[in-house]
Amino acid sequence: MKKESWVVHSMATCEDCDWVGTNHKNAQAVGANHAKHHNHFVRVETVLVSRYNEPRDIISERTKTINEESE
Ligand SMILES: [Zn+2]
Repeated sequence: MKKESWVVHSMATCEDCDWVGTNHKNAQAVGANHAKHHNHFVRVETVLVSRYNEPRDIISERTKTINEESE
């Protein structure tokens, strides 16, 4: 079985000081960093997309769309 997964959104929020970290690639890391350095209560929400056995024609259609958008 083939599997593709990627993060589409991630956000860290601090319950103690209302700080928000929205960098979707590293909210886990910056959230942990904030909690550690300030000793605050931080929550991180991550939206992960997973696709199993995606048919080849859908993948090439998406690649085609990306290529057209970059022209
Ligand atoms: Zn905080």
